[in-house]
Amino acid sequence: MTHAIWESLLQNFNENAKRYLEDMPKRAIANLSPTLPSANLPQGVQNLDSTFALLQNQVIPQMSASAGPRYWGFVTGGTNPIAAYADWWVTLLDQNVAKGGDSAASDIERQAIEMLVELFHLPANFKGLCTTGATASNLLAVIVARQFAGNQQGIDIAKEGLVALDIEVFSACPHASMIKTLGLGGIGQNQISYVKTLPENEQMDCDDLAIRLAGSNARSKIVISSAATVTGTSFDDFTRIARLCAQHNAWLHVDAAFGIFKRLIAPNAPCHQGIELADSITLDGHKWLNVPYDCGVFLTRHQTILQQSCHVDAPYLKNNSLEPDFMSLGIENSRRFRALPVWLTLKHYGRHGIAEWILRNVQQAKQLAQFIDGHPDYELVHPCQLNVVLFRPTLAETSDDLSQACLDMINKDGRLFLSSGKWQGKSIIRAALSNWQTQDEDMTIAEQVLDDAASNLRKAYLV
Ligand SMILES: *Cc1c(COP(=O)(O)O)cnc(C)c1O
Repeated sequence: MTHAIWESLLQNFNENAKRYLEDMPKRAIANLSPTLPSANLPQGVQNLDSTFALLQNQVIPQMSASAGPRYWGFVTGGTNPIAAYADWWVTLLDQNVAKGGDSAASDIERQAIEMLVELFHLPANFKGLCTTGATASNLLAVIVARQFAGNQQGIDIAKEGLVALDIEVFSACPHASMIKTLGLGGIGQNQISYVKTLPENEQMDCDDLAIRLAGSNARSKIVISSAATVTGTSFDDFTRIARLCAQHNAWLHVDAAFGIFKRLIAPNAPCHQGIELADSITLDGHKWLNVPYDCGVFLTRHQTILQQSCHVDAPYLKNNSLEPDFMSLGIENSRRFRALPVWLTLKHYGRHGIAEWILRNVQQAKQLAQFIDGHPDYELVHPCQLNVVLFRPTLAETSDDLSQACLDMINKDGRLFLSSGKWQGKSIIRAALSNWQTQDEDMTIAEQVLDDAASNLRKAYLV
């Protein structure tokens, strides 16, 4: 007999979750001015109905519809239903995937990683783990790359620290999180040697990289490349970069948070060839795989070096498994079972099921780009190559203020949510489509919102 409170909770969840899902397409996508009651701490246990009311009346209506089909800000995936269902179980099961020996949870995480490696046509010697996101994964890349650099110089960084490490980092368009993690990892945000990009996009100029690598006196080198960059969705030339890295004994990290999904729809496209030559790769689960927050994935061909940098040594934590424990491969000791939604998503949808929503999003982004390109009041600032559309209003003198005013109008409307960005120094508006449930009717609504914003902008600026 279950404890009575579970019965009430399950019943309440059943009713309210259904209502939430039904209302989702109608609710305002963003809540631009949330209001919460004060944070007074109750002294005693409250009755269940008032706790239900607190959540249903004060919290849930104040959330965004970021899981829905028209939230196109940043790069945001909405949870697919199978992953959401798996995640409810993750909470209920409450496993700690720190070490094996008491359940199959670690094996499920290993299988999830193995299936992702297969999904993206990567060699089977890539091992890894789930992280909280691409940022944590990029941090692991910095940690393992600096350990590799230390090994080249006879320093065990995990034990001795960074003292005396001689290292140079090369990158053209690193994601903001990569810059942050170079700081967290003790290398320093200002230590990046910026490689030139090719004209008109964000792809690394390999000739410039070759010159810089050849000219560097650093005893160890790390190259950080992108698949794809978050604004221009540019892919670096990984095959050529990998060759240069091999020549210079440099570590190659590829930040492929969402770009790697291109492999599912265009397996032979030249742009992502050579990713498999990387020493480490960052992926995001909560973006295009559409599993709930938070979930990233870190992969490396050098698990031993990763373990060397993250090993936890405590006698009470010993486990007899041949595989290293996850707590000795990542940042945390105690870890959420975030592999389960990944595992069940892969098992349920399979390669083709996932490729279906990737392809749909790419086609939808192309359609949106065409609409913008043909619109008298907007300018497409860069051809759409994947799932990101970059544009700005063209009314009167185009200024950065106008772009922001237009974005505010779009987001205030409530039917669509976009975010801002910079392209070649100019303020722009950015739409990134990465939700499994976006449909034709959402494209029609988005076009209406953009039409409305343009005519409101005309009214406000062209008096
Ligand atoms: C989103 C993103 C990140 C950061 O990912 P989080 O999951 O938000 O930590 C890193 N790199 C790229 C290319 C991204 O698109």
